[in-house]
Amino acid sequence: MITHSEQLFQQARRLMPGGVNSPVRAWRAMGMSPRFIARAQGPHIIDVDGNVYLDFVGSWGPMIVGHAHPKVLEAVQKAAAAGTSYGAPTPAEVELADLLIDAVSGLEMVRLVNSGTEATMSALRLARAATGRKKIIKFDGGYHGHADTLLVQAGSGVLTQGIPGSPGVPEEIASLTISVAYNDLNAVVQAMEHHAGDIAALIVEPVAGNMGVVLPQPDFLPGLRRLCDQRSIVLIFDEVITGFRVAWGGAQKKFGVTPDLTCLGKVIGGGLPVGAYGGRRDLMEQMAPVGPVYQAGTLSGNPLAMAAGLATLKILAEPGTYEDLEEKGCYFTEQISALAHLMKLPLRINREGSMFTIFFTDCPVNNLVEAQTSDTGRFQQFFQAMLAQGVYLPPSQFEAWFVSLAHSPEDLQKALSAGEKALLDCK
Ligand SMILES: *Cc1c(COP(=O)(O)O)cnc(C)c1O
Repeated sequence: MITHSEQLFQQARRLMPGGVNSPVRAWRAMGMSPRFIARAQGPHIIDVDGNVYLDFVGSWGPMIVGHAHPKVLEAVQKAAAAGTSYGAPTPAEVELADLLIDAVSGLEMVRLVNSGTEATMSALRLARAATGRKKIIKFDGGYHGHADTLLVQAGSGVLTQGIPGSPGVPEEIASLTISVAYNDLNAVVQAMEHHAGDIAALIVEPVAGNMGVVLPQPDFLPGLRRLCDQRSIVLIFDEVITGFRVAWGGAQKKFGVTPDLTCLGKVIGGGLPVGAYGGRRDLMEQMAPVGPVYQAGTLSGNPLAMAAGLATLKILAEPGTYEDLEEKGCYFTEQISALAHLMKLPLRINREGSMFTIFFTDCPVNNLVEAQTSDTGRFQQFFQAMLAQGVYLPPSQFEAWFVSLAHSPEDLQKALSAGEKALLDCK
């Protein structure tokens, strides 16, 4: 018998490309059709057939306090009752901007937008305007949204689909983007020397999340800071995932390296569409209406999004939240590791706080090439076995898993029992 999800997917595929509004949601790499979600609560999502899953996707990062948190709901409902958009400044924007600038060391001024993609493309425009240069450096497997300049050797869905870039991005634009291996400072130096005087910006995920989680080696971020300083290149941290995920104040706080510009998204919107970019005042004051660099948005600073973001960040600001997230991420990954070890299954786990990826490989994973040594067939088996036991994982080897404050020790225990069976299944 066909499930309600399958029925909806058939209909959706006639109406939307692949039946989805964002490619990885179609579960193609998993060889199955996606679940259509009816609602979510705490650490659980519930599909249209009534199946309840323990959720490790968290809407790809934003749901750090869990789904439908009462405080977030209350804030959004209150905001909605006062009207959903005015296209005019509001007190909530001032409050969120103040909170972000206070928490994130690299932010002296900030501009709120509607998505991470908007944040990164605007930050690059600013960097190009400020330096008068055209080229940018990024890293293989780094994903910074779907803007033309950034779809070169990109991670996330681009990687899962196995395409190097995207048709429709003109060669002239793609050629302005130089992509090198993550954690490879020599490659960065070479690129900077080869394109001397032409590099406007270097953009990096300070903890990579879109080729699966890859941690920066100890000298990597300080090295990037130094190399950019020597050549007056604008250093951009794309903290769309890591901002308020790996620490209050983001990866720049955790690793003690301050970028010139920072991009935020995901967590700071608490599940509503938000992005932000900001940084040095002298740079941000080049944005219109103060300066000549144009960027605008009809729904930017939307009252519902501000309310959800503020409520989420206020919960995160309570004492002990990041310790709790760290403990949960640590416990879960250590236990899975131990199980795999007992079964002699090749498995590597990269984790920073409550974000992590389990790679089915023997090889340490410090860059894209090493991530690609993973046995994706085995991941697919693992994914399917977990789903059958009510655990919902990212439908790709090359994505981050997220734990939220709402995941209880019993939830994690349940996921570990499922994990033990799933690992046996894919031995
Ligand atoms: C998700 C993501 C983006 C894009 O954000 P959207 O809101 O999906 O446009 C950019 N950078 C990183 C690091 C991301 O993970």
